[in-house]
Amino acid sequence: MEGYPHTEGYDEDVHAALVGEEIREAEGLELIPSENYVSLPVREALGSVLTNKYAEGYPGKRYYGGQEYTDAVETLAIDRAKKLFTCDHANVQPLSGAPANIAVYFALLEPGDTVLGMDLSHGGHLTHGHPVTMMTKVFNFVRYKMKDVETGEIDYGEMREIAKREKPKLILAGFSAYSRELDYEQFVNIAREVGALTMADVAHIAGLIAGGVHKNPFDAGFDLMTTTTHKTLRGPRGGMVLVNKSEDIANKIDKTIFPGLQGGPHMNNIAAKAVAFGEALHPSFRNYAGQVLKNAKAMEEVFREEGIRMLGGGTSNHLILADVYGSLGVTGAEAEKLLDEVGITVNKNVIADDQRKPLDPSGIRFGTPAMTTRGFTTGESAEVAALMVSALKAVGDKAKLNEVRSAVRMLANEHPVPSTFA
Ligand SMILES: *Cc1c(COP(=O)(O)O)cnc(C)c1O
Repeated sequence: MEGYPHTEGYDEDVHAALVGEEIREAEGLELIPSENYVSLPVREALGSVLTNKYAEGYPGKRYYGGQEYTDAVETLAIDRAKKLFTCDHANVQPLSGAPANIAVYFALLEPGDTVLGMDLSHGGHLTHGHPVTMMTKVFNFVRYKMKDVETGEIDYGEMREIAKREKPKLILAGFSAYSRELDYEQFVNIAREVGALTMADVAHIAGLIAGGVHKNPFDAGFDLMTTTTHKTLRGPRGGMVLVNKSEDIANKIDKTIFPGLQGGPHMNNIAAKAVAFGEALHPSFRNYAGQVLKNAKAMEEVFREEGIRMLGGGTSNHLILADVYGSLGVTGAEAEKLLDEVGITVNKNVIADDQRKPLDPSGIRFGTPAMTTRGFTTGESAEVAALMVSALKAVGDKAKLNEVRSAVRMLANEHPVPSTFA
């Protein structure tokens, strides 16, 4: 425990929440695939005096004075981001993943223009045109799907047909609940046929790309990438837009983010991004990214042996989407609650063309980025998977659930959250 000496005795209510969350994170196993643990140096930057500073504009072109250090950290973050993803432009100011995507839409499209993205129940993200989002009032979203939900193969033939018919200005590759790698060349070929731009939203897999264990969409000729910085990339909560080989697009992105959509950038957060990108450039990050994949494979093996259906037939990345309702008769919401009771945090998730409702869907989604940060091996990951299955089969069996909870607590205690990674 690091402790929070400055809120202790000063604001007891907030202090209690900070300490409570720290204990919760230490004692349980975090399997939500979009979560991770940042290092203390990242938290130090987040908690720094840079939060005091207004820095509207970009390094060298600010609206206020006193920018010696803000320019330095933002330039570091930009240079490190470009190196990590081998591209020639980075905007590190988006406040999170959703604002980064919104910035791209407004930078490149006119109201009424069409965007082609992944169907949401097939793994696509809310920000790719879910009807509940404001973007659907402005732009027209159309969708492609998987051809075969048992292998996860995308239907590129259908994608081409839709693209020819709907004439999208932008084609999106990216997902938050899909467990296979995409064939980026196919996206680029289709986009070129219909004159569309290509954007990869790599929010979930940015760390796998930076760590060199997944393909980089820019190698296939993508125009842009958007990402969060807090998922597999293991940085502070935030977003970023990357552009390759187009000064015109880069300028449009910068203008749209500021002054188009945002005001002053959160400089403490940008400093923390710089620290996290520095960590990701370290050779040890490659081992981390590789271990994330190995651990997911180890969990996949256990689920397969237990006969539990996985969407896409398994995983090639950091996450698994399991059809617990179809395989065990436990709904996604019931499974989430049951696992919560034993100290394992996952999230309920719709599966492709789910017959159940989003608030109580058929699936659960879980993954290995956070537990790998805590040093879990493949053997221990398989153990966690086996504990999950035990819990899911022990509905109403208090004694069994207690037993699983003790085993989870023990594994967690053996793996404290590390302070630094390099
Ligand atoms: C998480 C995620 C986002 C949104 O990120 P926020 O930081 O929550 O706004 C966008 N796209 C994809 C694919 C994601 O997984």
